Amino acid sequence: MLTITSSNPSTNEVIGEVTETSFEEVKDFVNLARGASANWRNIGLEKRIELLNSVADEFVRRGDEIARLTSLEMGRPISEALPGHAGDVEYFRSYMNTAENHLKPLTTLETDTQIHELTYEPYGVAACIAPWNFPFSNWVWLCGQNLVAGNTVVFKHSEETPLCGKLIEEIVNSILPEGVFNEIYGSGAAGQALIEQDVDLICFTGSTSTGSKINESAAKRFIPTVLELGGSAPGIVFEDADVEAVIATIYGNRFSCSGQMCDALKRLIVHESRVEEVTAGLKKIISELKVGDASDRETTLGPLVSHRQLETLKSQVADAVLKGAQVVTGGKTPDGLKGSYYEATLLRGVTSDMRVMKEEVFGPVLPIVTFTQEAEAIRIANDTIYGLGAYIFTTDNERFARVSKQIESGMVSQNNLSYVNTCNPFGGYKSSGNGREHAQFGFHEVTRTKIVAREK
Ligand code: NDP
Repeated sequence: MLTITSSNPSTNEVIGEVTETSFEEVKDFVNLARGASANWRNIGLEKRIELLNSVADEFVRRGDEIARLTSLEMGRPISEALPGHAGDVEYFRSYMNTAENHLKPLTTLETDTQIHELTYEPYGVAACIAPWNFPFSNWVWLCGQNLVAGNTVVFKHSEETPLCGKLIEEIVNSILPEGVFNEIYGSGAAGQALIEQDVDLICFTGSTSTGSKINESAAKRFIPTVLELGGSAPGIVFEDADVEAVIATIYGNRFSCSGQMCDALKRLIVHESRVEEVTAGLKKIISELKVGDASDRETTLGPLVSHRQLETLKSQVADAVLKGAQVVTGGKTPDGLKGSYYEATLLRGVTSDMRVMKEEVFGPVLPIVTFTQEAEAIRIANDTIYGLGAYIFTTDNERFARVSKQIESGMVSQNNLSYVNTCNPFGGYKSSGNGREHAQFGFHEVTRTKIVAREK
């Protein structure tokens, strides 16, 4: 039997082991999910909501435990993980609170003699595959609406966070009927084995390269996919921005969770007249950071999830420096710490041929470029294969309206506002994926529509 070893990225210490699911067992879990499917669908929305609200109650009751394990296993500072957990539960509850409204039949035609209704039906078995960056929210966002809508689920967490996976499985399966939720453990090969089974829908969150492979495999069998992939969100600071008011937001959008967020602000595009002020403001916040063990309440910047991620980040920065970028602050691993840490880093003198501008940077590194004309800022912002989020800093609402229309991304926000809300769809343009999560948009991805035309 093969095992997955889990380590604490803050200390490199081994914290546990989980048995890998064999390919035979992957098949068995899909069969179990298939077997449970009719009952889960027929039990009705009201009963599913009742059961899933009990799961949410358990998530609340064991919230501290979940947040602490997240810090321990993937390195998110506990000061972020605890409030983050409450936000995740709010998302989960929002699905139960809104499902009836979003899934009720829609009358499309009514005459004296006939009525046509659009109904939403569950697909059956959904394969859901998660990355490691937010172990609990990834589960909520991928599985929550599937379960509420009546799909049974076979779920794979990342091999970086198997203990978080085990905890979630234990909680969910203490309440749901057997076979409704099934979890498998393993590497990318286990994920591949899963999507090759007889499943009806694939919901995937992860990198663009894996998403592309999954899409190709699913397309051959006409299996629908919901793909939430990578991002390289631009942040544009216009000359009229209130820099003092937005600098903490710019910092948070890039450096929270050690920069390992899909829609993090990964390229800062600043009007030439404000670049010194913006750089100085960010440098000041960075100088006040407490880098260290994610489980320590004082820590504000934890490690990256793994040494593999750290090596990728280092090579991206080295490439930028080799091509002429200047390191304003950071640019190295901090002294005296054992885990996979990297200092919060600002780069200036950045050009479009550098990997930090072309690739997704999943770590606490922010390249800064300048512009003089609005059109130039928009061109740089759109000069990427990604199109997930975008951040615009301006006090001119007309400018915001004009620019946001030209930005090629699924989500855009102004100044300190956040587009992340339970009522909004989350998802991207271009290579950031297809499909949307949350609210009616998410429910309509995990169900199929049927038109029923009947006599009156
Ligand atoms: P990966 O694409 O490497 O992995 C994601 C999941 O897919 C993991 O469970 C992984 O397993 C599994 N996997 C790997 N290969 C295959 C395969 N061939 N078939 C099926 N499954 C496979 O992404 P990361 O885990 O590195 O996550 C970071 C990425 O996720 C970033 O690009 C980030 O932007 C993106 N992301 C996107 C979000 C969004 O909503 N748009 C939200 C959060 C993250 P294993 O890890 O065990 O190898």
